[in-house]
Amino acid sequence: MALSSFEAMPHRELSRSVEDYLKAIFRLSTDGEPASTTAIAEALDIQPASVTGMVKRLAETGLLRHVPYRGARLTDAGEQAALKVLRRHRIIETYLCQMLEYAWDDVHAEAERLEHAASDELVERMATALGSPSHDPHGSPIPTRAGELEAPRLATLADAEHGTRVRISEVRDKEADELRSMAAHGLVPGVALLVDSDQDLEGVVAVTVGNDEGVSLTVQDHLARRIFVVPDEV
Ligand SMILES: [Zn+2]
Repeated sequence: MALSSFEAMPHRELSRSVEDYLKAIFRLSTDGEPASTTAIAEALDIQPASVTGMVKRLAETGLLRHVPYRGARLTDAGEQAALKVLRRHRIIETYLCQMLEYAWDDVHAEAERLEHAASDELVERMATALGSPSHDPHGSPIPTRAGELEAPRLATLADAEHGTRVRISEVRDKEADELRSMAAHGLVPGVALLVDSDQDLEGVVAVTVGNDEGVSLTVQDHLARRIFVVPDEV
Protein backbone atom coordinates (compact mmCIF):
# COMPACT_ATOMS: atom_id res chain seq x y z
CA MET A 1 0.00 0.00 0.00
CA ALA A 2 2.68 2.46 1.05
CA LEU A 3 4.83 1.40 -1.89
CA SER A 4 2.15 1.99 -4.52
CA SER A 5 1.33 5.40 -3.10
CA PHE A 6 5.02 6.36 -3.45
CA GLU A 7 5.10 5.14 -7.04
CA ALA A 8 2.12 7.28 -7.88
CA MET A 9 3.90 10.32 -6.46
CA PRO A 10 5.78 12.45 -8.99
CA HIS A 11 9.45 12.66 -8.07
CA ARG A 12 9.56 16.38 -7.49
CA GLU A 13 7.16 15.97 -4.60
CA LEU A 14 9.73 14.18 -2.47
CA SER A 15 10.64 16.65 0.21
CA ARG A 16 14.01 18.28 0.43
CA SER A 17 14.91 16.35 3.56
CA VAL A 18 13.89 13.01 2.02
CA GLU A 19 16.11 13.76 -0.97
CA ASP A 20 19.02 14.67 1.31
CA TYR A 21 18.61 11.37 3.19
CA LEU A 22 18.55 9.35 -0.02
CA LYS A 23 21.63 11.12 -1.34
CA ALA A 24 23.56 10.68 1.91
CA ILE A 25 22.69 6.98 2.19
CA PHE A 26 23.61 6.45 -1.45
CA ARG A 27 27.05 8.04 -0.90
CA LEU A 28 27.65 6.15 2.35
CA SER A 29 26.79 2.74 0.95
CA THR A 30 28.85 2.72 -2.25
CA ASP A 31 30.90 -0.19 -0.92
CA GLY A 32 27.74 -2.29 -0.61
CA GLU A 33 27.55 -1.95 3.18
CA PRO A 34 24.44 -0.42 4.80
CA ALA A 35 24.89 3.20 5.90
CA SER A 36 25.03 3.36 9.70
CA THR A 37 22.74 5.66 11.66
CA THR A 38 25.78 7.47 13.08
CA ALA A 39 27.28 8.05 9.65
CA ILE A 40 23.97 9.34 8.27
CA ALA A 41 23.60 11.66 11.27
CA GLU A 42 27.12 13.00 10.72
CA ALA A 43 26.62 13.45 6.98
CA LEU A 44 23.40 15.40 7.49
CA ASP A 45 24.58 17.16 10.65
CA ILE A 46 21.61 16.05 12.75
CA GLN A 47 21.00 13.91 15.86
CA PRO A 48 21.12 10.08 15.49
CA ALA A 49 17.68 9.87 17.18
CA SER A 50 16.02 11.85 14.39
CA VAL A 51 17.78 9.65 11.82
CA THR A 52 16.25 6.55 13.41
CA GLY A 53 12.74 8.03 13.12
CA MET A 54 13.19 9.12 9.51
CA VAL A 55 14.71 5.77 8.50
CA LYS A 56 11.58 4.04 9.86
CA ARG A 57 9.30 6.35 7.91
CA LEU A 58 11.29 5.99 4.71
CA ALA A 59 11.28 2.20 5.10
CA GLU A 60 7.48 2.41 5.03
CA THR A 61 7.55 4.24 1.69
CA GLY A 62 9.66 1.49 0.13
CA LEU A 63 12.64 3.78 -0.56
CA LEU A 64 14.97 1.97 1.82
CA ARG A 65 15.25 -1.02 4.06
CA HIS A 66 16.17 -0.78 7.70
CA VAL A 67 18.95 -3.25 8.52
CA PRO A 68 18.66 -3.94 12.26
CA TYR A 69 21.76 -2.84 14.24
CA ARG A 70 23.56 -1.85 11.03
CA GLY A 71 21.67 1.03 9.49
CA ALA A 72 19.88 1.52 6.19
CA ARG A 73 20.20 0.34 2.64
CA LEU A 74 18.40 1.90 -0.36
CA THR A 75 15.91 -0.18 -2.36
CA ASP A 76 16.02 0.01 -6.16
CA ALA A 77 13.36 2.74 -6.02
CA GLY A 78 15.40 4.65 -3.42
CA GLU A 79 18.57 4.31 -5.45
CA GLN A 80 16.84 5.60 -8.60
CA ALA A 81 15.51 8.58 -6.64
CA ALA A 82 19.01 9.29 -5.23
CA LEU A 83 20.56 9.09 -8.71
CA LYS A 84 17.99 11.58 -10.00
CA VAL A 85 18.98 14.08 -7.30
CA LEU A 86 22.65 13.49 -8.08
CA ARG A 87 21.96 14.08 -11.78
CA ARG A 88 20.17 17.33 -11.00
CA HIS A 89 23.01 18.43 -8.71
CA ARG A 90 25.79 17.70 -11.18
CA ILE A 91 24.02 19.20 -14.20
CA ILE A 92 23.26 22.37 -12.24
CA GLU A 93 26.94 22.64 -11.20
CA THR A 94 28.07 22.18 -14.80
CA TYR A 95 25.56 24.75 -16.02
CA LEU A 96 26.63 27.32 -13.43
CA CYS A 97 30.30 26.87 -14.38
CA GLN A 98 29.98 26.71 -18.12
CA MET A 99 27.09 29.03 -18.86
CA LEU A 100 27.13 31.48 -15.97
CA GLU A 101 30.88 31.60 -15.33
CA TYR A 102 30.74 30.56 -11.70
CA ALA A 103 34.08 29.37 -10.27
CA TRP A 104 34.19 25.63 -9.52
CA ASP A 105 34.56 26.29 -5.80
CA ASP A 106 31.38 28.37 -5.82
CA VAL A 107 28.85 26.01 -7.34
CA HIS A 108 28.33 23.29 -4.73
CA ALA A 109 26.31 25.31 -2.20
CA GLU A 110 24.19 26.81 -4.98
CA ALA A 111 23.53 23.35 -6.45
CA GLU A 112 22.61 21.97 -3.00
CA ARG A 113 19.75 24.47 -2.91
CA LEU A 114 18.68 24.33 -6.56
CA GLU A 115 18.73 20.52 -6.85
CA HIS A 116 15.54 20.35 -4.76
CA ALA A 117 13.77 23.19 -6.56
CA ALA A 118 14.57 22.65 -10.24
CA SER A 119 12.03 20.63 -12.22
CA ASP A 120 13.12 17.66 -14.33
CA GLU A 121 12.16 19.68 -17.40
CA LEU A 122 14.48 22.56 -16.46
CA VAL A 123 17.37 20.22 -15.67
CA GLU A 124 16.98 18.33 -18.94
CA ARG A 125 16.94 21.62 -20.85
CA MET A 126 20.15 22.62 -19.07
CA ALA A 127 21.69 19.27 -20.01
CA THR A 128 20.70 19.74 -23.65
CA ALA A 129 22.06 23.30 -23.70
CA LEU A 130 25.36 21.90 -22.37
CA GLY A 131 25.51 19.18 -25.04
CA SER A 132 24.64 16.36 -22.58
CA PRO A 133 27.84 16.41 -20.49
CA SER A 134 29.09 13.15 -18.96
CA HIS A 135 31.04 14.74 -16.08
CA ASP A 136 30.59 17.75 -13.82
CA PRO A 137 33.27 20.45 -13.28
CA HIS A 138 34.83 18.41 -10.47
CA GLY A 139 35.21 15.43 -12.79
CA SER A 140 32.40 13.44 -11.13
CA PRO A 141 30.33 11.33 -13.52
CA ILE A 142 26.76 12.56 -14.11
CA PRO A 143 24.14 9.79 -13.85
CA THR A 144 22.33 9.30 -17.17
CA ARG A 145 18.59 10.01 -17.58
CA ALA A 146 18.08 6.26 -17.28
CA GLY A 147 19.77 6.37 -13.87
CA GLU A 148 23.08 4.73 -14.78
CA LEU A 149 26.25 5.92 -13.09
CA GLU A 150 29.79 5.22 -14.17
CA ALA A 151 31.62 3.08 -11.58
CA PRO A 152 33.71 5.24 -9.23
CA ARG A 153 37.47 5.27 -9.65
CA LEU A 154 39.02 4.41 -6.37
CA ALA A 155 42.73 5.29 -6.58
CA THR A 156 43.63 8.57 -4.96
CA LEU A 157 46.81 10.60 -5.27
CA ALA A 158 47.63 9.52 -1.71
CA ASP A 159 47.82 5.88 -2.87
CA ALA A 160 49.56 6.49 -6.21
CA GLU A 161 52.83 4.66 -6.71
CA HIS A 162 55.94 6.83 -6.45
CA GLY A 163 57.66 7.57 -9.74
CA THR A 164 54.53 7.06 -11.87
CA ARG A 165 52.63 9.44 -14.11
CA VAL A 166 48.96 9.92 -13.37
CA ARG A 167 46.14 12.11 -14.59
CA ILE A 168 43.60 13.75 -12.30
CA SER A 169 40.17 12.29 -13.07
CA GLU A 170 38.12 13.72 -10.26
CA VAL A 171 38.38 16.01 -7.25
CA ARG A 172 35.93 15.09 -4.51
CA ASP A 173 35.92 18.04 -2.22
CA LYS A 174 33.20 20.35 -1.01
CA GLU A 175 35.35 22.89 0.82
CA ALA A 176 35.51 26.07 -1.23
CA ASP A 177 38.90 27.11 0.29
CA GLU A 178 40.45 23.79 -0.58
CA LEU A 179 39.05 23.76 -4.12
CA ARG A 180 40.35 27.31 -4.63
CA SER A 181 43.80 26.40 -3.46
CA MET A 182 43.85 23.24 -5.61
CA ALA A 183 42.75 25.21 -8.68
CA ALA A 184 45.36 27.91 -7.94
CA HIS A 185 48.03 25.19 -8.07
CA GLY A 186 46.64 23.68 -11.24
CA LEU A 187 45.24 20.57 -9.54
CA VAL A 188 42.09 20.16 -11.66
CA PRO A 189 40.62 17.25 -13.66
CA GLY A 190 42.54 16.45 -16.85
CA VAL A 191 45.91 17.61 -15.53
CA ALA A 192 48.84 15.16 -15.65
CA LEU A 193 51.14 14.76 -12.65
CA LEU A 194 54.39 12.97 -11.99
CA VAL A 195 54.35 11.45 -8.52
CA ASP A 196 57.96 12.13 -7.51
CA SER A 197 60.05 9.06 -6.71
CA ASP A 198 61.67 10.83 -3.74
CA GLN A 199 59.10 11.41 -1.03
CA ASP A 200 61.09 12.69 1.95
CA LEU A 201 58.47 14.72 3.75
CA GLU A 202 55.86 13.37 6.14
CA GLY A 203 52.22 14.25 5.57
CA VAL A 204 52.53 15.42 1.96
CA VAL A 205 52.79 13.92 -1.52
CA ALA A 206 55.47 15.52 -3.71
CA VAL A 207 54.41 15.88 -7.35
CA THR A 208 55.48 17.62 -10.51
CA VAL A 209 52.59 19.21 -12.40
CA GLY A 210 52.54 18.77 -16.18
CA ASN A 211 55.69 17.62 -17.95
CA ASP A 212 59.14 17.05 -16.45
CA GLU A 213 59.92 20.76 -16.47
CA GLY A 214 56.64 21.39 -14.67
CA VAL A 215 56.14 22.97 -11.29
CA SER A 216 57.03 21.00 -8.16
CA LEU A 217 54.37 20.92 -5.51
CA THR A 218 53.72 19.22 -2.21
CA VAL A 219 50.11 18.22 -1.71
CA GLN A 220 48.94 17.71 1.86
CA ASP A 221 47.76 14.17 2.55
CA HIS A 222 44.17 15.14 3.36
CA LEU A 223 43.89 16.85 -0.04
CA ALA A 224 45.68 14.02 -1.84
CA ARG A 225 43.00 11.65 -0.55
CA ARG A 226 40.33 13.70 -2.35
CA ILE A 227 42.13 13.79 -5.68
CA PHE A 228 41.28 10.71 -7.75
CA VAL A 229 43.74 9.72 -10.44
CA VAL A 230 44.11 7.26 -13.30
CA PRO A 231 47.42 6.04 -14.74
CA ASP A 232 48.60 8.39 -17.50
CA GLU A 233 49.85 6.58 -20.58
CA VAL A 234 52.63 8.65 -22.13
ZN1 LIG B 1 28.47 19.51 -5.57
